[in-house]
Amino acid sequence: MTTTQVRAACPLDCPDTCALLVTVEDGVATAVKGDPDHPTTAGVLCTKVSRYTERTYHEDRLLYPLKRVGKKGEGKFERISWDEALDTIAARLKPIAERAPEAILPYSYCGTMGLIQGESMSSRFFNQIGASLLDRTICAMAGATGYKYTIGGSIGTDMEQFQNAKLLIIWGGNPIASNLHFWTRAQEAKRNGAKLIAIDPYRSLTAEKCHQHIALLPGTDAALALGMMHVLIKEDLLDHDYIAQYTLGFEELKQRAAEWSPERTAETCGITVEEVVEFARLYGNTARAGEPVAIRTNYGVQRVRGGGMAVRNIACLPALVGAWRHPAGGVQLSSSGSFPTNKPRLQRTDLLKKIPRTINMTTIGDDLLRPASPSFGPAVEAVIVYNSNPLAIAPDSDKVMRGFLREDLFTVVLEHFQTDTVDYADIVLPATTQLEHMDAHTSYGHLYMMANNAAIAPMGESKPNTEIFRLLAAKMGFDDPCFKESDDELAAQAFNAQDVRAMGFDWDALKQKGWQKLNMPAAPFAQGGFPTPSGKCEFYSAQMEADGLDPLPAYLPPYESVTSNPELAARYPLAMISPPARNFLNSTFVNVKSLRSAEGEPHLDIHPEDSATRGIANGDMVRIFNDRGSFVAKARVTDKARAGLVVGLSVWWKKLATDGKNANEVTSQQLTDMGRAPTFYDTLVQVERVAA
Ligand code: SF4
Repeated sequence: MTTTQVRAACPLDCPDTCALLVTVEDGVATAVKGDPDHPTTAGVLCTKVSRYTERTYHEDRLLYPLKRVGKKGEGKFERISWDEALDTIAARLKPIAERAPEAILPYSYCGTMGLIQGESMSSRFFNQIGASLLDRTICAMAGATGYKYTIGGSIGTDMEQFQNAKLLIIWGGNPIASNLHFWTRAQEAKRNGAKLIAIDPYRSLTAEKCHQHIALLPGTDAALALGMMHVLIKEDLLDHDYIAQYTLGFEELKQRAAEWSPERTAETCGITVEEVVEFARLYGNTARAGEPVAIRTNYGVQRVRGGGMAVRNIACLPALVGAWRHPAGGVQLSSSGSFPTNKPRLQRTDLLKKIPRTINMTTIGDDLLRPASPSFGPAVEAVIVYNSNPLAIAPDSDKVMRGFLREDLFTVVLEHFQTDTVDYADIVLPATTQLEHMDAHTSYGHLYMMANNAAIAPMGESKPNTEIFRLLAAKMGFDDPCFKESDDELAAQAFNAQDVRAMGFDWDALKQKGWQKLNMPAAPFAQGGFPTPSGKCEFYSAQMEADGLDPLPAYLPPYESVTSNPELAARYPLAMISPPARNFLNSTFVNVKSLRSAEGEPHLDIHPEDSATRGIANGDMVRIFNDRGSFVAKARVTDKARAGLVVGLSVWWKKLATDGKNANEVTSQQLTDMGRAPTFYDTLVQVERVAA
């Protein structure tokens, strides 16, 4: 028997980007383990990915191209050859590409985070056509935009420093489920005497293990940050030297923060005045004592109307107290802006003859149903879906389904499994998993460039995304040499040559070693140097003003709340959030039996006061509904959800859920204040018991 170990990287939408070691015995992957030598992830994987072979060798893997033989949505297909599949697709796309190229729409996201199997050959293909651009906003854009206005880019505290913090604030995330290696460091910090505070409307697994949990109302994080600023300024818990040297707009900020008394903050956030004051004092006093104070904020805070502003306000806090002076101080939302990627070259944006229209992936429900018009342009006639499952993950799901049901819409889906979206495809193309293809990775949690080597041969007739788009390009008659480049050639172009040469980067060496850390200072903003227009942390942002936004930190109430829409709140009095279930990653893994069994079935966590007034007992089946739709789940009566809040852990495949529907039946397509992102956690609902 031949046994080898192959260096790989986790491809999933998770900040940790673990280094993997895949054991291959006679061509079969028998184990996926963490690489103990990788400094950040240190050999530990989450349960999901330690089961990755179960997923790769799953009996339901799509192994051959398929064409639809039933009605859309029925999921009935028959096997066809690759030639027939590619000829059919090219025959459908060519006339559209000649007549109205923008009627063709790619739909993709982070099913893989890989630079090569994500947006490389696929982008070249759609750029050559002149297809509609896709605004990939569904997860991170609101927060990334708010952070960028303030700090200048997605750069923050190095994950390898958090264990040295003395105060660690986990703001809007549940790292036990979705940022495991940060949590390992948080526990180390705790053992070293640090205090851990969780800010989250829900008492998540993480919040349960912190010293303190501030359970604010959903969508009010921006107000809490403003209240903190008020106390820090009023009680002079500031680093005046840091503010004077490295920030812009402190005097204006002072006036704005003066409007946010602890009383107003507490009322807005649904918490006590003491919680506001004590929290701010602890933050300011710990920093004043010269100890590192760190904030790990995450995307939970930005899935509401004012989500971009919430992240902006949080990002202002470290500069007020000089927390950036310490390697273990500051804030991290994402480290993705640290990487010198060269996307224009990888994606060949120069192939575009003109800039096409852009369609927002968050509003796919409306946009698939939109007729041609002078403002919208041509109706969407063809959608090519890869690395995504819009039927399950996009908001306002009933509209998404009706869009994909259109008989005149030609839909192609590249997938591993027959997901909810595959059921609506005309042609299905089997794609390889991470064990079967190579890729290059960055991370949005740590600072290592990573390589993924193919460990095994493709299963059945599956092919890497890159190869599928190469073959499609040939069928379409695209003759630019860029469509013939191999995956290795693509990977070698993925980073800016000048930046990575300075680091001694070499793609072949990266494949051998598995990873390479970026050259970054331990405390990136200890002496300012923010990549903003002013080079300072911008409390006042002229760019925001130019973009029609409030240039100072502010608070925008949710779209759906008693304050902003009392009539709606009278009919639908409960706020609903749908954060990630621990055993799923977005909609990936829902079909892996062992992981689905661990989750059980779709649940709705509801506070005892809210269940009692509705006659709901623990374990009852309940219907969650609003004007957009409804879904059924099993009630868990628990004070983990604060009164007035219900929580439906997600994202279930609809066809594997209780009534063929999931939480996105009730979420809306409204967009955030900045970044054009979704507002999944800005949702009012009513809940009723379903008769047995
Ligand atoms: S999902 Fe996250 S924690 Fe799990 S293996 Fe992948 S990168 Fe690591």
